Amino acid sequence: MLSHPISELKGVGEKLEAQLNELGLFTIEDLLFYFPFRYDSYEVKPLTELTHNEKATIEGEVVSEPSLSFYGRKKSRLTFTLQVEQFAVKAVMFNRAFAKKQLHAGDTVTVTGKWDQQRLQITVSQFKKGESKSQAPIQPVYTLKEGVPLTTLRKFIKASIDAYEHEIPEILPEDLQRAYKLPERPQAIRQMHYPDNRIMLKHAKRRFIYEEFLIFQLKMQLLRKHHRESTTGNAQTYDNSKLTSFVQELPFELTNAQKRSLAEILKDMKNPHRMNRLLQGDVGSGKTAVAAIALYASITAGKQGALMVPTEILAEQHYQSLMEMFEGRASVALLTGSIKGKKRREILEAVGTGHIDILIGTHALIQDEVELHDLGFVIVDEQHRFGVRQRRTLRDKGLHPDVLFMTATPIPRTLAITAFGDMDVSVIDEMPAGRKPVETYWVKGEMTDRVLAFIQKEIDQGHQAYVICPLIEESDQLDIQNAVDLYNQLSSVFEPNIPVGLMHGRLHNEEKEEVMQEFAENRLKVLVSTTVVEVGVNVPNATVMVIYDAERFGLSQLHQLRGRVGRGSDQSYCILLADPKGDVGKERMRIMTETTDGFELSEQDLKLRGPGDFFGKKQSGMPEFKVGDMVHDYRALETARRDAAEIITEERLDKDGRYRPLRDLIYQDKQIMGEVLD
Ligand code: ADP
Ligand code: MG
Repeated sequence: MLSHPISELKGVGEKLEAQLNELGLFTIEDLLFYFPFRYDSYEVKPLTELTHNEKATIEGEVVSEPSLSFYGRKKSRLTFTLQVEQFAVKAVMFNRAFAKKQLHAGDTVTVTGKWDQQRLQITVSQFKKGESKSQAPIQPVYTLKEGVPLTTLRKFIKASIDAYEHEIPEILPEDLQRAYKLPERPQAIRQMHYPDNRIMLKHAKRRFIYEEFLIFQLKMQLLRKHHRESTTGNAQTYDNSKLTSFVQELPFELTNAQKRSLAEILKDMKNPHRMNRLLQGDVGSGKTAVAAIALYASITAGKQGALMVPTEILAEQHYQSLMEMFEGRASVALLTGSIKGKKRREILEAVGTGHIDILIGTHALIQDEVELHDLGFVIVDEQHRFGVRQRRTLRDKGLHPDVLFMTATPIPRTLAITAFGDMDVSVIDEMPAGRKPVETYWVKGEMTDRVLAFIQKEIDQGHQAYVICPLIEESDQLDIQNAVDLYNQLSSVFEPNIPVGLMHGRLHNEEKEEVMQEFAENRLKVLVSTTVVEVGVNVPNATVMVIYDAERFGLSQLHQLRGRVGRGSDQSYCILLADPKGDVGKERMRIMTETTDGFELSEQDLKLRGPGDFFGKKQSGMPEFKVGDMVHDYRALETARRDAAEIITEERLDKDGRYRPLRDLIYQDKQIMGEVLD
């Protein structure tokens, strides 16, 4: 049986079993599904198809007796000439003196090593006498622990395939298998470990990638369906004419993307299921405007709305702008950690009795003491800064409030459909007309003086500038020191009539607010800051963003910072001061100067960093796939998602016998089913 322990295999003793257990291999099935993480190719190719400086395998005849020379202490070099096609190729082998006895003129050999196209030379790392046909052209490489040699692992994988192949169950229904021409499971397993050739391997991988994605998506969609069905009865009947006049009174016309997203949100509100939607859009794309309209809709339906944001500054800004927008239409209150005493009690009281329509705040909103009268709609801004648990607490504050998450980190579609597979997603992928893209430049540290002169010039024209301080890893304290130093330096650099402000995380909230206020009112011309200005802050008159040590920031963060400028009608500039050492850093700077499209940027970021890093380790919650790669195999992921949605909608898992094995497998997942049965 597949579920039997590995020790059932002949030759696996206690010691080996323990070692295999360490690799996470306990059962025969584990062994069968322990796929290689890489395949090395030993496929012989014609010389014209080889790539300079890359690994290659060639086959030829030894035409000169190998010559051996020694140098240094115990170092040797063996060289010989190989006749390959019509070329004489020089082969060099280091520290394998023994090979001299094995290789002779007239022998046919297959050698693998680094290929030098210019000199027609190969630095041999592996060789085999005889023709290439005698060895497998594609060799799997497995993750191993000390003590278990590759040959041993391979031997037992082979043994289990041979003995248990017929027991490997097919889990994909025939229709899907046929639709995508996927090889059968047992056959695919054999190919994963012992590929006959590149094509067979490709199909085997394709099969498991699809299988893996499909199972994942089925679980997600099942959860989503469950969430919907368990939360009926929250249909919000908003007042369409009030809403229309509200929208018409806005000082601008909504972009098409805003209209589309708004329609999606309103549809969720009207229907009796709880909304669980993500609204994505680049900085300045007009998410807040959409959110405000949706909040207003909820209020005309007689409910309360809440807006939760990550920082106090942001809460304050939203509070100000929503107060203006809702003047005469709804009552708005602000609740943050720094609002205390009598004022706090009054707000809580008014919220509890329903005298406040919209409550804006930070984490303070999810504390127990906050009791809402009739919460119908919750918006969570910058959602990935809140943990899953906080999201849930918030959700549970109302009976079944609709929840809209907003994020300005344009999450690549690839990730969005995966990480948020249980959410609906609306995307604002269009900027309001008339915005000028921010011009971005990357300059080396030695140009700092010229950058400062440029700031002076912009200020002379009435504009303002942000200067973001160098970032020192993981050290708040040092970051602040940096900010203070830079502040002192810049205060003396600029002409005395140019007031410079300082902003960092250790300032008291009132101080922060004051500084921000002064900057917003153009009383401060330059704002030196740590990354606390990153989110949401809106000062349209600021046209310059200078970022020190830009190479230390990730692409998404740089893009967020850049989003602080370019909010008015004047041309804005972002200057990256950076001396990146590595290629990735240089690549990042280059990408920043080449695009202002947040979605494209985040796709690039993902490629440079990989999905695990994208959200930061702690909150990543990103699924890990064994075979599939979310970025690389993104089409398969989309296909699987579409299929999963169809399967769940049509209830095929329960109703169609051919889906039985898949159903059993999914229902075995205790975590998923735990949530569903909760
Ligand atoms: P986000 O929340 O996505 O960063 P905001 O909603 O704050 O964007 O919008 C940024 C600025 O653009 C605000 O000043 C807002 O009034 C304005 N704005 C929003 N939508 C439009 C639009 N359709 N046309 C013109 N300006 C808009
Ligand atoms: Mg609803």
